[in-house]
Amino acid sequence: MYWSKTFIPTLKDAPQEAESESHKLLLRAGMIRMLMAGVYSYLPLGYRALMNIQDIIRQEMQASGAAEVLLPALQPLELWQRSGRDKDIGEVMIRFTDRKGRKICLGPTHEEVITDLVRQQVSSYKQLPVVLYQIQTKFRDELRPRFGLVRGCEFIMKDAYSFDRDEQGLDKNYQLIFAAYERIFKRCGLGVLSVEADSGVMGGSVSHEFMVPAQEGEDNVLFCAVCHKGFPAKENAALNCSKCKGKLEKVSTLEVGHIFKLGTKYSSVLGANFVDAQGKMQPIIMGCYGIGVSRLISAVVEQNHDANGIIWPMEVAPYKVIILPLDITEPKIMEQANNLHARLEGAGVTVLLDDRDERAGVKFKDADLLGINLQLVIGKQFLKDGTLELKERGKEEKNAVTAEGVLEKIRAALHG
Ligand code: ATP
Ligand code: MG
Repeated sequence: MYWSKTFIPTLKDAPQEAESESHKLLLRAGMIRMLMAGVYSYLPLGYRALMNIQDIIRQEMQASGAAEVLLPALQPLELWQRSGRDKDIGEVMIRFTDRKGRKICLGPTHEEVITDLVRQQVSSYKQLPVVLYQIQTKFRDELRPRFGLVRGCEFIMKDAYSFDRDEQGLDKNYQLIFAAYERIFKRCGLGVLSVEADSGVMGGSVSHEFMVPAQEGEDNVLFCAVCHKGFPAKENAALNCSKCKGKLEKVSTLEVGHIFKLGTKYSSVLGANFVDAQGKMQPIIMGCYGIGVSRLISAVVEQNHDANGIIWPMEVAPYKVIILPLDITEPKIMEQANNLHARLEGAGVTVLLDDRDERAGVKFKDADLLGINLQLVIGKQFLKDGTLELKERGKEEKNAVTAEGVLEKIRAALHG
């Protein structure tokens, strides 16, 4: 991709509205823009990072045995009245009446919709288990939207739901998805603490939150420096780890995932029953599993940046290589830049070519800000002896490489 053909409006300074480091960097790097408080557009680079995160989630959810669906954002309010959550969820849910007088809400989550769907299709133990997930836009009228993508009124969630005939089935799916979450967060370049948590408005018995330590977090977690176990930070809380007696430290975190053993909370009130092997009618046993997909972008940046900008983990990076021709008026330099761009694209390596007529200093600063993994510089040295300079974002060292050898070097750096 050529810089001139995409849309990367970088900013020298962070806008006043930006509160946290990830918020500032995502705005400065031209990844996102605010439409109104809590509502953001994804520009091409931010959208590419989002798609990469979604790819990782899809691969790992499918590996855990879940099938993808896409449920409607428009939901009949009546369904929420039946589950009894209409009142519990309160002002967070956005409601309106359509021109035909139907009472409608914009889905803040989908337990009701999916339970009703499965209720209509499943009647026998032979049809269970069913595990479904979606990646979809949710709407919540948050009182205090903040930190950019961290707390939005419109945001992207991955939500999964398991339907089992017994507790053992639920335990198995819970474990499978727990393990998938660990793989997802690792591939996103995140260090995450899993913490046993309150079930809150979702209800049910067991629940775990996945928390990313971040400078500007929203929650606190107690962290054992010895065995790395996380605990919820409640006020009368113990100071030592219950597992290894190590000293606990309080860390500020962002919640990126939350999973629940729901049991029969929704199936019993919505009538999602099945006939078991003995011919007895039973409510289906459920679990639900959320990931804040758009919030993950902020969490990744919170954990992966320095004073100069973002440092993308390899699998999330919008592009893997940025080519920096330092003088675009020099035909030999541009010829080599175009050539390398074509060769890298041909080899399946995502690449951005900064073909702007800007000073070298501006290009270096923006390349650091965008956080693309490898910077390939074609400057004066190339005109002298044909060498290019290869630098990894976040590392000081620069390597001189020849145009012939550069593809090998890039492959080695990418696959490390
Ligand atoms: P929170 O406690 O942060 O309000 P929640 O517990 O209500 O979140 P869940 O219903 O468990 O959230 O949603 C699943 C995931 O969606 C959360 O773990 C979080 O990562 C993400 N999420 C929730 N609310 C928002 C929001 N307003 N903006 C962006 N992401 C969100
Ligand atoms: Mg939660």
